[in-house]
Amino acid sequence: MSERLSIRNPRNGEYDYEIVATTAREIASITSRMRVAQKLWREKGLEYRVSVLEKLKTAVAGRREELVNALSTDTGRLYISVAEVDGIASAIDRWTAVARAQTAPETKNSKAMPFIEFRSEKEPYPVAGAISPWNFPMTLSMIDALPAMLSGGTAIIKPSEVTPRFAGPMRRAVAEVEELKDILHIVDGDASTGAALIDHVDIVCFTGSVATGRMVAESAARNFIPSILELGGKDPAIVLEDADVERAATSLLRASIVNTGHACQSIERIYVHQSHFDDFVEKIVAKAQNVKFNYPDIHSGHIGPIIFEKQADIIKTQLAAAVSKGATVHTGGEIEHHGGGLWCRPTVLTNVNHKMTIMQDETFGPIMPIMAFESDDEAISLANDTIFGLSGSVYSENIEHANEIAMKIDAGGISINEGSLTGFMHEAEKNSFKYSGMGESRMGPAGYHRFFRKKAIMTNMGDAFPIEAFDEKNANFP
Ligand code: NAD
Repeated sequence: MSERLSIRNPRNGEYDYEIVATTAREIASITSRMRVAQKLWREKGLEYRVSVLEKLKTAVAGRREELVNALSTDTGRLYISVAEVDGIASAIDRWTAVARAQTAPETKNSKAMPFIEFRSEKEPYPVAGAISPWNFPMTLSMIDALPAMLSGGTAIIKPSEVTPRFAGPMRRAVAEVEELKDILHIVDGDASTGAALIDHVDIVCFTGSVATGRMVAESAARNFIPSILELGGKDPAIVLEDADVERAATSLLRASIVNTGHACQSIERIYVHQSHFDDFVEKIVAKAQNVKFNYPDIHSGHIGPIIFEKQADIIKTQLAAAVSKGATVHTGGEIEHHGGGLWCRPTVLTNVNHKMTIMQDETFGPIMPIMAFESDDEAISLANDTIFGLSGSVYSENIEHANEIAMKIDAGGISINEGSLTGFMHEAEKNSFKYSGMGESRMGPAGYHRFFRKKAIMTNMGDAFPIEAFDEKNANFP
């Protein structure tokens, strides 16, 4: 029996949508059809695949309103929902350029045995699985599927059960492109559908929490398939003594609260040189107090409701624990109830320390805990005192100084004089360090190469190797 799941609307708290979870048996049947379809998809070549994805662009554009409505209902925010839909076309263009830049494998002669010619071919994984979270439902569903398809493979996506509404219109857009039949599938469901998917794909790309990432990696290992994990973060920002404080306050506010702080690359800890501490706190508090909810009208304001109600509990618990241990709340600090939704104003905290969960665990809300530091070494050691290593930021008017600090932060993407640049540009290759993930870079050309296995083709242009060559009497050993 298929399981029905009720979906909550974060603006009014009502469970006003339902999905039917795709079963393990259905996933087995879908992926076996995908394996058949993949052969021709691959054979037809890159330019054919590009032309089909161009049609997908048109189909998505034709359903722009439907997709934006679905996404903004699930997430309670509009600007980013539009960006998610419109971003599909630019992502297709970007991956097309990367794919077209690849050159044919070169045939070489072995240095050790020059009569042997060899080349390294690249063979796509036939079926790639993508399991995605609720914070950017469409972007993070398509982010791996697009390069996987361009590589000559097929893709099956399991979006988050918290924000699955876009899947319906997206499936309709895909269905308009006949050539994508059994090349791109989007299934519905929760953890059990995600778990079943791992049993039927050849590579799994997972975006989500560390706890689930570990389960995904274990299941993938059992099946001997690669898992690429993009997990949580606790990104630090360091505002150095020679930083422009006004600039740092402007960009760190945005980087900490955009999408209501529901971003893996959100700044979650701010370390400010003691000489600027009071000035920085005053500036960021003033700016934070100008931030408006997009309530009651979704067309105005800067941040939406907390998308996932369980996240509100996490934010609330971390805030309460910090306050009970002496943290000072300068602005915000409450989970507010408006119109049935849960909301959190940008919250600035001081008197925090690393014994507090708010400085250790991912918060995933618009919370800015700020600590002072005296020396660069202290700032680096605070920034690195975490199990996470996703990304971080450094602010300094001296770019050389900023670079020196950036190189000492144990994380995969460091923005200088800006926050969370990894959310805006995709060219720079980066790995997730520590518990923030595993596997090749999702950004830059490596993001495309992830979907291939290498196959060596070796030709002996000389005489056959006879067994006589292995005669024990010829062994050069006393
Ligand atoms: P989650 O781990 O709870 O769920 C993610 C997805 O995994 C969902 O689709 C869920 O249904 C599925 N899932 C759950 N259990 C599973 C299992 N046993 N096997 C297979 N699939 C399973 O994460 P979430 O709450 O949806 O997302 C928030 C997390 O995602 C945060 O930690 C955030 O930092 C992280 N994230 C990371 C990145 C990145 O690029 N590093 C980007 C966005 C979000």
